Amino acid sequence: METVSRRDFIKLASLSAVGVLGLRLVSTQGLNLLSAKTKVSELPVIWIQSGSCSGCSVSVLNTKSPTITNVLVDEVIPGHHVNLLFHPTVMAASGEKALSMLDPKKDFALVAEGSFATKDEGVYCMVGEETALKRLTDLGKRAIAVIALGTCAAYGGIPAADPNPTGAKGVKKIFDEYHISTPVINVPGCPAHPDWFVGTIATILASGLQAVELDSQGRPLAFFEHRIHDKCPRRGYYDMGKFAKKLSDPYCLYQLGCKGPITHADCPERLWNGGTNWCIGAGHPCVGCVEPGFPDDTSPFFRKISLMNDALKNDVTEWIGKGLGIAALTGVGAHLGTTAASGRFKKEEEE
Ligand code: SF4
Repeated sequence: METVSRRDFIKLASLSAVGVLGLRLVSTQGLNLLSAKTKVSELPVIWIQSGSCSGCSVSVLNTKSPTITNVLVDEVIPGHHVNLLFHPTVMAASGEKALSMLDPKKDFALVAEGSFATKDEGVYCMVGEETALKRLTDLGKRAIAVIALGTCAAYGGIPAADPNPTGAKGVKKIFDEYHISTPVINVPGCPAHPDWFVGTIATILASGLQAVELDSQGRPLAFFEHRIHDKCPRRGYYDMGKFAKKLSDPYCLYQLGCKGPITHADCPERLWNGGTNWCIGAGHPCVGCVEPGFPDDTSPFFRKISLMNDALKNDVTEWIGKGLGIAALTGVGAHLGTTAASGRFKKEEEE
C-alpha cells in the first residue's frame, strides 16, 4: 500500500468521494439528525472491551497510514482530533483514576470491542465493578454514536457461537432490546482492518456522522459494499471452473470452502498488514469473518458453500433471485441446482 502523509490523507479524505481509505462523503438516512452535533473540533472517545481477544485493538494499533500516533495523539485533521479518554489496555492510568474517565462531561463517541455477555445480567464480564453490559448500556445511551469494532461487537462473533454459554450478543441487538436509539456503526472483521476503523473515524471528523453511509448490516459501504468474490484475483479460475484441490494450489478455493461468494469486504484491494497480503493471497479460503453469521453460519470453514446450512443455501438462492454477479452466481446456482436435482448434497457430505 502506498504510504501518504497525514496531511495528504486528510485532504483526500475531505475532498474526494473516495479518499485514500475509500471514504464516502455522502449523506445517509438515520444519522442526519446528529450531523450538527457531531461535526466536532475534538472527538472524545471511550473505548471499552468486553468478550474479546483484544485482536481488534492490536489491529488498529498497527494502522500504517496514518499511524496510531497520528490518530490518537496528533490532530487527525487540522483543528480536529481524537481524544482517547479510556482504553483498558492502552491508557496509562489504572484503578479508580482510570474508571473515573467513564463519566465524561462532554459529548463522546463510544467504541465497543468484543461481544457482551447478557446471561445472568452480564455477570460474566466486568469493567471495574460494573458488568460490561451495564457499561455498554449506560454509556451507549449518552454517546453520540457507537462504533462496534470487530465482528464480536457487531454481531456476537466467536463468543456468541453455539452453544453461547454467556448469552453473548452484539451491540445493536442489545440496543434494540434496551430501546437505546444511539446510532451504531458496525466495523466487523476478525479482526477489523485498521483502515476500516480509522477511515470511519476520519470520515466522522471530516464531515460528521451523516457522512458514513451504511449497508443493511450497519457496515460502512465504503469498505463493505462488494463481495470478496467480485474482486478476487482468483475469480478467473472460478469462471473457468479451475478449482484448487489442496491449499497450495494457485486456483480458486471455492471447493475448499471459500466463503468469498457470500462475504462483503474490500480485502482483495486493500490487503492486510500494510498491504502485504491477505487470506486468499496466502492460499487460505475466506472464512467470511465480516458477516453477521460468523462463525456458526460460515463453518465448517473448509466445506464448500453448497454443502453448508440452509441459511447459506437460502442466501445464495436470494442472490440468484436478485440477479447479482451474473457469472459467479450462475456458476453457484448451476452447481446448487444440479447438485440438488441429483440428490448429491447428502452423498457428498458423507464422502
Ligand atoms: Fe476467490 Fe474464493 Fe471466489 Fe474462488 S470462491 S474466486 S477463491 S473469492
